[in-house]
Amino acid sequence: MEYDFDLFVIGGGSGGVRASRVAANLGASVAVAEERYFGGTCVNVGCVPKKLFSYAAHYRDDFEDSRGFGWVTPDIAFNWAVLKRNKDKEINRLKGIYRSILDNNNITTFEQRAVIQGPHEIRLEGKTVTARYILIAVGGWPWVPEFPGSEHAITSNEIFSMESLPESITVIGGGYIAVEFASIFTRMGCKTTLVYRGDKLLRGFDEEIRQFITEEIGQALDLKLEASPVKIDRNSNGLRLTLDTRDEICSEAVLSATGRQPLTRQLGLETVAVKTSTSGAVIVNEQFQTGEPSIYAVGDVIDRVALTPVALAEGQIVARALFSGDKPQLEYTNIPSTVFCHPNLATVGLTEEQARDKGLDIDVYSAKVKQLKHTLSGRNELSMLKLVVNCQDDRVIGLHMVGPEAGELVQGFAVALNCGATKADFDRTIGIHPTLAEEFVTMRNKRKSHV
Ligand code: NDP
Repeated sequence: MEYDFDLFVIGGGSGGVRASRVAANLGASVAVAEERYFGGTCVNVGCVPKKLFSYAAHYRDDFEDSRGFGWVTPDIAFNWAVLKRNKDKEINRLKGIYRSILDNNNITTFEQRAVIQGPHEIRLEGKTVTARYILIAVGGWPWVPEFPGSEHAITSNEIFSMESLPESITVIGGGYIAVEFASIFTRMGCKTTLVYRGDKLLRGFDEEIRQFITEEIGQALDLKLEASPVKIDRNSNGLRLTLDTRDEICSEAVLSATGRQPLTRQLGLETVAVKTSTSGAVIVNEQFQTGEPSIYAVGDVIDRVALTPVALAEGQIVARALFSGDKPQLEYTNIPSTVFCHPNLATVGLTEEQARDKGLDIDVYSAKVKQLKHTLSGRNELSMLKLVVNCQDDRVIGLHMVGPEAGELVQGFAVALNCGATKADFDRTIGIHPTLAEEFVTMRNKRKSHV
């Protein structure tokens, strides 16, 4: 049967654009439908603008720290409008790059919603097109719990386009987005309260690291733990958030950073054999194939690991499997990630708890250190480094860090872990002095924690 396209991709974000480009380079005729913005969440309302805001926030620390080194800085002031304008310009430039990747690779684009109508059929405005394969790469969307007044809360979708910086903000949640934005806003001079239902931030990360980052973040803002939102009232002064602890927090804005959900509603999945999980995620096999053999899915919509580089890798694997015949597999182990809170938290491999749960006999090395810089800056900030080592073969199976530029550092160590580096390899590596990273190769005192 003749199809209009070899591959029709729904969603022009990281995973969709990567799959399209790789497929087109392998000779496939490809179309992409995108109803909102090319570049997806990462470029428009995610990683990229967030990192720009995080840079902006870091300047406050830098200005303050510089005084201990002899700099005489006048009182500092932050201008949200300048940051927003410059950020918008950069995001528009990046969106243009995404568009030109598609155009330069002769990929047909439809700037509209696409709905699946059958195993090989996609409905567009006023017409139906056919494709040998369909790739669902529609991503996710912020999820806000329902409680009275929850409609007053904004999400990460709106935060980047606020016209002015609120004087005060309450952030609900204790995951990536909550701790990143709470760190950013408090440094921009906004009175910030972070409300989390658990006893330590960042569930899923190493427990000791969680304890440490919770203490560090708690120094910079008002942290309310073991508290959940009950209602939000709007009054003439702004918003009043009532918690189940009976505390009330008044602030100009409330940010709900309570998770994201796959965007699978009204996508026409009921017309095909694509199955979804209770969270709405598309269920796929190891090759990212859904229950409908001609339909594949990658990225946040499959809700495996909601990280841009993972979506890129998944998109590339699908395109290569379909159009070059090779069957690469994605390793979901040792995926490094960073939370861009202040200080940054980065991790690769297993947490101490995960290693224990696997029944591994492990040694744990951890250190809390004061950066040399803060001897003169006067900042009361510590860093933490931690290694989890498998006693059986001496391999380092987990590496965790809280400290400046932790992501830049852990990326390199992730390569070492992927190569199977042992603790002895770490020990024979000469440190770079004076750095924080050298601690990773000079850790000698293990905390024995056999199961
Ligand atoms: P997360 O799943 O990381 O965090 C959601 C938070 O909301 C958790 O702390 C959760 O609590 C809390 N929560 C959930 N439901 C409720 C509720 N009903 N009431 C109160 N609190 C609630 O989601 P995010 O939105 O922060 O981020 C989504 C994903 O995006 C991340 O998991 C990550 O994969 C990706 N991301 C990556 C970034 C990076 O790489 N730097 C940056 C931002 C996002 P609990 O823990 O108790 O369940």
